[in-house]
Amino acid sequence: MPGGWDTRPPFLGLEGRKPEEVFGALPTPCYVLDEQMLCRNGEILAGVAERTGCKILLAQKAFSNYDLYPTLAPYLAGTEASGLYEARLGGEEMSEGEVHVFCGAYRQEEFQELLKYADHIVFNSPRQLRKFGFMAKEAGKSLGLRINPECSTQEGHAIYDPCAPGSRLGTTREVWNREMTAELVELLDGLHFHTLCEQDADALELTLQAVEEKFGDVLPRMKWLNMGGGHHITRPDYDIARLDKCILYAKEKWEVQVYLEPGEAVALNAGYLVTKVLDIVRNGQVQIAILDSSATCHMPDVIEMPYMPPLYGAKAEGKGCYVYRLAGPTCLAGDVIGDYGFDHELREGDMLLFGDMAIYTTCKNNTFNGMPLPDIWKRDRNGELHKLTDFGYTDFKMRMGSK
Ligand SMILES: *Cc1c(COP(=O)(O)O)cnc(C)c1O
Repeated sequence: MPGGWDTRPPFLGLEGRKPEEVFGALPTPCYVLDEQMLCRNGEILAGVAERTGCKILLAQKAFSNYDLYPTLAPYLAGTEASGLYEARLGGEEMSEGEVHVFCGAYRQEEFQELLKYADHIVFNSPRQLRKFGFMAKEAGKSLGLRINPECSTQEGHAIYDPCAPGSRLGTTREVWNREMTAELVELLDGLHFHTLCEQDADALELTLQAVEEKFGDVLPRMKWLNMGGGHHITRPDYDIARLDKCILYAKEKWEVQVYLEPGEAVALNAGYLVTKVLDIVRNGQVQIAILDSSATCHMPDVIEMPYMPPLYGAKAEGKGCYVYRLAGPTCLAGDVIGDYGFDHELREGDMLLFGDMAIYTTCKNNTFNGMPLPDIWKRDRNGELHKLTDFGYTDFKMRMGSK
């Protein structure tokens, strides 16, 4: 379909070529991580850091494909982890950077090991700070407490709102007042908040006001303020000037080192899921293309968030348009990616290309239904393809029983 290919992000650099022309040699399904887009994102983030003096970390829960850490490292100050394993991965694979960790609750058995990898440790509650903080301080760590500014700035995605009523994430001012003794406050080097999800800088601005109202009195005692992730900094219409302003405000007002720890923004639009049509079935008026990749196994956020991922060459539904429901091969009735329009009929064997597949995919996928895990490939800066890893039956079986 000449002219039908959109080559803006997330399909930058494909120059209008058909998926087969670029990825025809790859086994499907497979993920392709795009080094050029990672560098583009990295440059935007490094620009923020340079202008404001803030430090930017990769939140590994969104993207932990460590083969690309050397590509990202020059743009970042280090990694952020959700617990021991990610902290270890960051420590091992981006060893020149800082390693920060936040976990809803740490376990006694793993805390000693965590001290080997993490240099900044953020606690969720005063109780956890009391339980582990003295040991961590003795080991020379920089300690923080996650606060809950109780300022919801997002609608629609309640499961992604750490400020929703009854949230377990972060310490409210009420709890701070009741439980933070002078001795505990003394332990702290910084405060941490993470309240955003795919949001612009206006939401950060509002949140920062709430942080100031609730915790403005304690901030001058702190060395750093971590503003978490959820900043969609590398999205083309993101208001970077306003982000810079927020960072500089905090830095000047409280004399703190500001940290940001985006996940999505680091690898936004920097990957594809390459898939093929296995069969076309029909139910009444609905034409359904069954693919060799699955929403629930290979792009679980399509169902969990939920959202419809961009598809290369797809057009808005309308006249002269062939509409197909794209769906996975599993037994789950809801394993559906969405209804997409094409300007031609789909056929068995056609290759399709989902965009923005570097984030929350390879680190969230699963082998439900015994589905194979897609291989992971890299497309380097010259457009050349390299296999990073592949998977087989053993990767399915080893999680189910004795080795
Ligand atoms: C999820 C998370 C991030 C990254 O969020 P993105 O939306 O991917 O930018 C950063 N920090 C913490 C504490 C998180 O839970």
